[in-house]
Amino acid sequence: MLSLKTLKLGVFVGLVAVAPLTEASGNSSCRCFYGDDCWPSDSTWNAFNQSVDGRLVATVPLATPCHTPNYDAKECKVLKDGWLLPEEHYNGKSTGASALSVWTHHLKDIEIKDWKDKHYTGKAAKLGAGVQGIEAYEAAHKQGLRMVGGECPTVGIAGGYSQGGGHSSLASKYGLAADQVLEWEVIDGNGRFLVANRNQNTDLYWALTGGGGGTYGVVWSMTSKAHPDGPVSGLNLTFTTTNISDDAFFKVVELYNTHLPSIVDEGVMSLNFLSNTSFSISPMTGPGVPLKKLESLIQPVRDELHRLGIKYVYESEVFDHYLAQFNAQTPLVEVGVAQYGSWLLPRSIMQKPSTNHELTNSIRTVLARGATFTTVGINVAKEVSGDVYNAVNPAWRNAVAHTLMSTTWEFDEPKKMLAKREEMTNVLVPSLSKLAPESGAYLNEADFRQPNFKQAFYGENYDTLRKIKAKYDPHCLFYGLTAVGSDEWTIAESGRMCRTTSAQALRHEI
Ligand SMILES: Cc1cc2nc3c(=O)[nH]c(=O)nc-3n(C[C@H](O)[C@H](O)[C@H](O)COP(=O)(O)OP(=O)(O)OC[C@H]3O[C@@H](n4cnc5c(N)ncnc54)[C@H](O)[C@@H]3O)c2cc1C
Repeated sequence: MLSLKTLKLGVFVGLVAVAPLTEASGNSSCRCFYGDDCWPSDSTWNAFNQSVDGRLVATVPLATPCHTPNYDAKECKVLKDGWLLPEEHYNGKSTGASALSVWTHHLKDIEIKDWKDKHYTGKAAKLGAGVQGIEAYEAAHKQGLRMVGGECPTVGIAGGYSQGGGHSSLASKYGLAADQVLEWEVIDGNGRFLVANRNQNTDLYWALTGGGGGTYGVVWSMTSKAHPDGPVSGLNLTFTTTNISDDAFFKVVELYNTHLPSIVDEGVMSLNFLSNTSFSISPMTGPGVPLKKLESLIQPVRDELHRLGIKYVYESEVFDHYLAQFNAQTPLVEVGVAQYGSWLLPRSIMQKPSTNHELTNSIRTVLARGATFTTVGINVAKEVSGDVYNAVNPAWRNAVAHTLMSTTWEFDEPKKMLAKREEMTNVLVPSLSKLAPESGAYLNEADFRQPNFKQAFYGENYDTLRKIKAKYDPHCLFYGLTAVGSDEWTIAESGRMCRTTSAQALRHEI
C-alpha cells in the first residue's frame, strides 16, 4: 500500500491524465502549456483549488530530491531503493506535462452485494477506483469469495487493469477482469456523473470494459462479479541450461507449448518465464482443479525432462482458497527494470507441429538477443467468458498465450537504450507477430511504440470506440499514449500537445 511519504514523491499509479482544455489561441491547434499566456493565472488556480476544498496538488518531478537545489540525501535514497517497484512509476501512461491528473487512491470503498439481472445472478463487489488487487482479494475472501485480479497485489483493479482487459490466474476459469464487470460509475468528459451497465448508457459501458483506461471518463467505481471461493491447486517447475545443450532446452520448451492449449482448456492459467539460462513455470494455477489433475497436465514435460536427464525443481500444493495460493505462489514482478513488447498467440500456432516449431525458432531469436520471454498461458474464449458485452480486443478470444518480451533498461547508456528500443519494435515483437499477423497485442502490456497500434490493441472495435469517445469526451479531455484517439495528437519533446492535421479534419467528421 502507498504511504503518505511515497504520495509526496508524486506516485503516478492510479492517476487519470487530463489534458487542459484550453487551446493556446483561437486558431492554434495546441493545448495550453505552462508558461503560455493562456496558462491559467494564479488567481484562477486558487479559485479552482477552493472549489475542490484545497485538494489540488502541485506536482514536482519524481526525482527532485536527487537534484540541486532540492537535493535531500535521505529522500533520494528512499526513491532509489524503490525505483524498481511499480509503485514508483510505470510506463508513463497516466502522466503528461502541463496536464491535470486525478488522484484516485483515496477511493477505497468496498461493498459486497447481490446482483440479479438477465445476464448474471450472484455475488458482486462494488469497488472504489482506488482499491488495489490485494485489498479486493482480502475483502472477497472474508465473505468466502474470490475475484479476478492481476498478479501484482498493488495494481488498481478498477483502473487501467480492468478497463484494458486484465489477465489473471483465475482467467481461464472465469474470463478476463473486463468480463467480470457489471457496472461502472463514471464522470465523463462533459462533467456528468453516469451509471453505465447493460441497460443504461450501454455504449459507454461497452467501451469502458476493455476499450482502455483514461479515454472516456474518470471511473469512480466498478461493480464486478465475485465467485464462490474454494480450493486452488498450484505448481512450480524450474530448470536451467547448466550442463544441457541448447537443443535439449528448446525441445522441452517446444513440448510445453504443444501442451499449452490442453492445459488452459482445463481452466488453468500457466505463467512461464524463459531466459537464455532458465525455464520456469511460476506458477501454474488451477482454481477448482484437483491437484492430481493439474499434475497430470505437466507430466509429459516431466517425462521429457527425465528422458533427457535434465534436473529440475518441482513443487505442487493444493491451497484451501485463492488468497492462500496467491500469497504463497505469486512471483514478485519488477517493472522499472525493463522495456516491453508483446503479442497474443492463437491456439492454432501450438496445435500445428510446423508452426509450433516456428514459434520455438522465434523464441530462440528473442532469447539469443538477451531478452526474456514470458508466456501467460490462458483461455478466455467465449465459452469461458460467457454472456458478456464488451470491447475487449477480439484477439484475446482465440489466444492461448499472451507472450511478453522484455529487455533490461540501460540506465547509464542512453544510446544503447535507444538501440534496444528500436530492436524491440523492429526485431523482437515482429519475430512473434509474423506468426499470427492477424492477431493483436494486449494494450496494457505492450510495446508503447507498437506500429499500427489501433489494429493491434483494439482490432475491429477501434472505429466504434472512437465514436463513443467523441460522444462522452467531445473536447478530448482525456489522453493516454496509445489510447483511443491518441494518434490525433503529437507530443513535442517539451511535452506540448498539438493536434495532427488529420485530426483537425476528423474533428469535423465525427
Ligand atoms: C507490477 C505490475 C504487475 C502487473 N500485472 C498484471 C497482470 O497480472 N495482469 C494484467 O492484465 N496486467 C498487469 N499489469 C499491467 C496493468 O494492467 C497496467 O499497468 C494497467 O494500466 C494498470 O492500471 P492502473 O490504473 O493501475 O495504472 P495507471 O498507469 O494509473 O493507469 C493506466 C491507464 O488507466 C487510466 N486510469 C487509471 N485509473 C482510472 C480511472 N479511475 N478512470 C479512468 N481511467 C483510469 C490512466 O489514465 C491510464 O491511461 C501489471 C502492471 C504492473 C506494474
